[in-house]
Amino acid sequence: MSSFEPVIGLEVHLQLNTRTKIFCSCANQYGCASNTNVCPVCLGLPGSLPVLNQQALLSAIKVGLGLNAQINPFIKFDRKNYYYPDLPKGYQISQYDFPVAKDGFLNIKIGDQEKRVRIKRAHLEEDAGKLVHDNSGSCSLVDFNRTGTPLIEIVTEPDLHSPQEAYDYLNILKLTLQYLDVSDCDMEKGSLRCDANVSIRPVGQTLLGTKTELKNMNSFRAVKAALEYEIRRHEQVITAGGKIVQETLLWDDAKAQTQTMRSKEEAHDYRYFPDPDLVPFTVDHKLIDSVRAELPELPQAKHIRFLSQYSLSEYDANILVADRGTADFFEAAVKEYPSPKKVANWMAGPVLMELNDRKMSIYELKISPASLIGLIKKVEEGIVSNLVGKEVLTFMLNEGKNADEVIKEKGLSQVSDDSALLVIIDEVIAQNPAVVEQIKSGKSNAAGFLVGQAMKKSGGRANPKKLNELITRRIAGV
Ligand code: ADP
Ligand code: MG
Ligand code: ZN
Repeated sequence: MSSFEPVIGLEVHLQLNTRTKIFCSCANQYGCASNTNVCPVCLGLPGSLPVLNQQALLSAIKVGLGLNAQINPFIKFDRKNYYYPDLPKGYQISQYDFPVAKDGFLNIKIGDQEKRVRIKRAHLEEDAGKLVHDNSGSCSLVDFNRTGTPLIEIVTEPDLHSPQEAYDYLNILKLTLQYLDVSDCDMEKGSLRCDANVSIRPVGQTLLGTKTELKNMNSFRAVKAALEYEIRRHEQVITAGGKIVQETLLWDDAKAQTQTMRSKEEAHDYRYFPDPDLVPFTVDHKLIDSVRAELPELPQAKHIRFLSQYSLSEYDANILVADRGTADFFEAAVKEYPSPKKVANWMAGPVLMELNDRKMSIYELKISPASLIGLIKKVEEGIVSNLVGKEVLTFMLNEGKNADEVIKEKGLSQVSDDSALLVIIDEVIAQNPAVVEQIKSGKSNAAGFLVGQAMKKSGGRANPKKLNELITRRIAGV
């Protein structure tokens, strides 16, 4: 058994969803034709001057408050100097000694225990451009659309002690950021990126071991896999009497291993200095208070409230809270129909399935809380069965109609009319003489089979209670 304890600290870069870039008025938009969202400022042309985007600052303050951090009202920007083709100015504007936010935390759950993960700092900076490597391998192209995209970098203390804890932290961080509505948090588009720092130490030792930094993971699952791989590698090196070299490694997802990165960031001397083009200033406390006053209820608080206010199961609460839109939809629906458990069942089941199938958010679905309740009522009143209700939902979403309209148009209401049901029942009885004999000899629960058969023939539309009653009577000859 291993006698080492892993130590992990995470650095998350988040692209803020402001309309324009952080220091110029170019659109902050993903997926445009290369080098169309550019201007002298974000191209770093001589003589151009940066102006801070107020919205980016407000979003950063919001993130800081959402992560339970102290907001630093003294706003100062610094230049982080390095040379790379995707960085036209030869420096990145960042914050060195005065991050917007410091000393925050997020809690993660380990079993039944809450564990606090301290957040050391969150600071504003600008994103770099993007190198596009030509397929022929003969050259690299550079796209400056991303240059100047507002980023907030969120850095934890080395408080995480397993890849699973890192994974859990990332999930709750992402959900919190989504609730704050500051980013789409889409790792595939690069709006959320995570670098992981990891070391190991003998259990019981307080001094930190030498860390390596892992980059290039494009999912939380990849972060977890990279950490697992790297912890094993550290253990092997140290157990064999070797030493870990402090370096940056790239995760290769296909090969499932880390690889040493070449040169670029080896020289760690960024020669930070204050950016003379951006004068430091102080944010009015009133502004910070107004951002605080407008913070939404965050996922962990909502989860606790859902459990107590609606007596939901842990499972239902988790699913509903996992998306702010879904949680809001649920609450609006419960206002119309105060049966939280039934609404939760529909939302966590059929509605969520439709969302996944359609790869849509609840806002994009053609259904309102009122129209979902309309459907639930039809099921509760026995107008349609549960099964047919799901079918009605699909039609509702396809056609943007309410349950009533769909049921009428498609003729989906349960058939309770005796004569129509008896036609089906007589067929089923004729086709299953052996089962009929069993029922006659006293095995009344064999009737369930006939009900099932009749239900199938009716296309799921027969009223099951009525079927049971009619079958029993028919066989008894009364
Ligand atoms: P650097 O100057 O190399 O960027 P920082 O002190 O800024 O280092 O820390 C970067 C990240 O690495 C933080 O998340 C921090 O918690 C984590 N970290 C620092 N030292 C260690 C270590 N020995 N083992 C694991 N993580 C560490
Ligand atoms: Mg760092
Ligand atoms: Zn620009």
